[in-house]
Amino acid sequence: SVFDRIEEVEGKVEAYLAVTKEEALNKAKEVDEKRAKGEALSPIAGVPIGIKDNICTKGVLTTCASKMLYSFVPPYNATVIDKLCSQDMVMTGKLNMDEFAMGSSCENSYFKKTKNPHNLSCVPGGSSGGSAAAVAAGEVFLSLGSDTGGSIRMPASYCGIVGLKPTYGSVSRYGLVAFASSLDQIGPFGRCVEDVAMLYSAICGRDENDATSVICKYPRFTANCTDIRGLRIGLPKEYFGEGVDAEVKKAVTAAVSELEKAGAVVKQISLPSTDNALSAYYIISSAEASSNLARFDGVKYGYRTESFDGLIDMYEKTRSEGFGDEVKRRIMLGTFVLSSGYYDAYYKKAKLFQKRISLEFEEAFKGCDIIITPTAPDTAFKLGEKVSDPVKMYASDICTVTVNIAGLPAISVPCGKDSKGLPVGMQIIGAKFTEQKLFDVASFYE
Ligand code: GLN
Repeated sequence: SVFDRIEEVEGKVEAYLAVTKEEALNKAKEVDEKRAKGEALSPIAGVPIGIKDNICTKGVLTTCASKMLYSFVPPYNATVIDKLCSQDMVMTGKLNMDEFAMGSSCENSYFKKTKNPHNLSCVPGGSSGGSAAAVAAGEVFLSLGSDTGGSIRMPASYCGIVGLKPTYGSVSRYGLVAFASSLDQIGPFGRCVEDVAMLYSAICGRDENDATSVICKYPRFTANCTDIRGLRIGLPKEYFGEGVDAEVKKAVTAAVSELEKAGAVVKQISLPSTDNALSAYYIISSAEASSNLARFDGVKYGYRTESFDGLIDMYEKTRSEGFGDEVKRRIMLGTFVLSSGYYDAYYKKAKLFQKRISLEFEEAFKGCDIIITPTAPDTAFKLGEKVSDPVKMYASDICTVTVNIAGLPAISVPCGKDSKGLPVGMQIIGAKFTEQKLFDVASFYE
């Protein structure tokens, strides 16, 4: 039925870069046989799952939606893929994204522009736009995305579904093509909180292949909204101020009132560093990206220019032709902030700021159990509306980047619609490793 649905709507939504139907049907048959034999199966056995195209899948193209990797077939699986395969997922295919996960609208893909299933003239959000749109359009039940500065939560919000950015270090990044290694996390999308909790349970945990993955007890996560009474909710005033759409504010505030009616204690808090968070995010992420993307040189992977005169010319032509404008912009910005004479003024300052914002969150969590904000300052915007103005596009990430800078978990859950009928998302942020609390509170809305 998933493949029928893909047939029906994919021409309009364009969420997939590759559909792996034959492999999926074979796998589904295998799971059926296991079930018939009475074998014990995992909760995700036989469940159709789509994968963002920056997560390595052995033998299946992994392009990062870039011309640079148009022909890259990884010889290995990312750890999350190995984990899901060992639990018998049925992979439906690879999903569209902004090139190398840089963007907020999915329009930076080299291959196609994914549309928002709620309104085909609008963007699905980004960078994991394909992962969000496919779930929202019924083209798959669950999907994986990656979140460096909001790329799971923001498209989840625009597409009216649930998306989790897990605590930094709780999901292995081995086999995730790196954008900004100190911020990147893989996480799940689903149509309800319980599905997201189930997929998160299946991918989290320590991995020997990722030195930043954390050793701790990872329970099987559920979504049980038991008792909200006494739950302390902080509303940071900086996230409800200027630049945030009035209808978004209204929907989020109304959703918080519901929690208050159920017995939660709501108080206003302040996270004063928020105002500088976007600048710090774009400095840190671009610096790391400029280093991570140095490996795409025409020698080791994917694209190589056709004619060249010597090695340096080959590097230059390959990178000029292989990367899109946004990726080049980040590489230039990152190289600039890391260069001698500018390092102290930009990169070092941004890293100091990272410490400050983490401390502000730590302080805030002494007085509240969770923090609630809008996920994005607006709802899905029109295709093409922000492409010519990168700074306007960057501003879409204002509510999400602080969470990555501080390494915290956050979930986006739908909380109503605006007057155009487009979904509004609410972000619930917790202290490190409090995913269970986030699932419980988010499921209050279901
Ligand atoms: N929109 C942000 C950026 O372009 C976030 C991307 C992400 O989380 N991968 O960097």
